[in-house]
Amino acid sequence: MKHKDQQTVRQQIISHLCESEMSARDLSSVVRISEKEVLLHLSHISRTVASQGKKLVIRPFQCLSCGYTFTDRKRFSRPGRCPECKSTHLEPPVFRILS
Ligand SMILES: [Zn+2]
Repeated sequence: MKHKDQQTVRQQIISHLCESEMSARDLSSVVRISEKEVLLHLSHISRTVASQGKKLVIRPFQCLSCGYTFTDRKRFSRPGRCPECKSTHLEPPVFRILS
């Protein structure tokens, strides 16, 4: 696979998130990088868009069994299980850029 220019990848992610809500997995398949790389880019993108007067909005992890929302969670880290019902069926966060 050809090396991708970091800046270009970030711009692609930004344009996708300006149009629709997407998870790291969605982004990884459209931009063709790993989910881990997507998350690394997102932490930079969060600052980039803030400097442009926009906002990276994150809907946090949610438990699919009881609906518990991981609002206290550090932004990009993955919780192991729900503290309420101990379920491991968690819905991943989705991202969106609002202007
Ligand atoms: Zn739960």
